[in-house]
Amino acid sequence: MDDYIYMDNAATTKMCDGAIKEMMPYMKEYYANISSSYSFAKKCERKIEECRQQLADTIGAKSSEIIFNSGGTEGDNQAIGLIRGEGKRILVSIIEHKAVLKSCNKAKERGINIDYIPVDEEGYVDMDYIKGHAPDANMISVMLANNEVGVIEPVKEISAVKGGAILHCDAVAAYGHIPINVREMGIDIMNVSAHKFGGPKGTGFMYVKEGIDFAPMLVGGGQERLRRAGTVNTMSIAGMCRAATESIKNMQTRMEYERALRDIFIRKIIQDTDGVMINGGLKKRLSGNINVSFSGIDSVALIAFLDDHGICVSRASACDSNKESASHVLSAMKLSEERIRGSIRITLNYENTITQVMYVATTIKEGVERLRKMQS
Ligand SMILES: *Cc1c(COP(=O)(O)O)cnc(C)c1O
Repeated sequence: MDDYIYMDNAATTKMCDGAIKEMMPYMKEYYANISSSYSFAKKCERKIEECRQQLADTIGAKSSEIIFNSGGTEGDNQAIGLIRGEGKRILVSIIEHKAVLKSCNKAKERGINIDYIPVDEEGYVDMDYIKGHAPDANMISVMLANNEVGVIEPVKEISAVKGGAILHCDAVAAYGHIPINVREMGIDIMNVSAHKFGGPKGTGFMYVKEGIDFAPMLVGGGQERLRRAGTVNTMSIAGMCRAATESIKNMQTRMEYERALRDIFIRKIIQDTDGVMINGGLKKRLSGNINVSFSGIDSVALIAFLDDHGICVSRASACDSNKESASHVLSAMKLSEERIRGSIRITLNYENTITQVMYVATTIKEGVERLRKMQS
């Protein structure tokens, strides 16, 4: 097991030790259902409310604006689902996660109009398009950072031109990796998922600004002030809270370390192999993301070759990797078919080392050369 070199941190992360430790007492001691009325439950509830406050503090929100849920997919479905009524409009970036885009498809079936914001070759959204279409929009949905190419979108600039529209921001790839302040950035609804920053899978939270008209997607019990029914997942919330605190505390050092590793990696790949193209802008980008294409190969075969060497990287997003479907993000960036076909995504974190980077770069070179030879 320990032999894997894991470089797919945009798909999920290993849990940090602090989060694992934090969860244990919720299984053994604080296991009450926090909705119950006895003092044991109240004691557990108080601990969860402390987590809610701490998480709210990480984004400059109030604790009453935080709703615990099962993660990014649920949050995105819930957010887009808030727009109801025929003829309403959602302005959505074409490079959103499928959880947003497919929710928009469902919205279309309800008679909602969807306008897709194009992106440039580097993956940044077209601000002129947004400015032109914002006055008609009821919601604008643009992710803070893209999970495939790592580019960071100009959310603050979008909020300055949003007018009366609700600004929804999928921050799943960004939270814990770059600083976020919802008030400064003008975000109305934001989604976060714990497993992308060292927390447990199947847990996340949603920020909903005070005053936003909210209708719950899940109904049943009165949990989360009637905004999300279902017994509250206390242990995972505790783990998420700890993972968030650790990520944010060490953010600057991690970012610098990951960026240094990334730059060494990119330089080495470019030096060793020809026909290399980096996808996505490097100016504003998550520090651990490398999305790179190799001419004349199919990356499905390269990923399999790397897998044989114990290396975990992916093509597009993890959610799409079963299918042969090309990345909708790279397509939206209008990259050539060959470039899309030959692309892989490497996402580093602070546990990766220089030794691993050198080994992986060399293995990539071997793989690319072998595949090119087979095809010629
Ligand atoms: C992973 C991811 C999601 C889905 O989150 P889950 O918690 O895994 O459901 C949504 N959006 C982005 C940008 C992601 O990276």
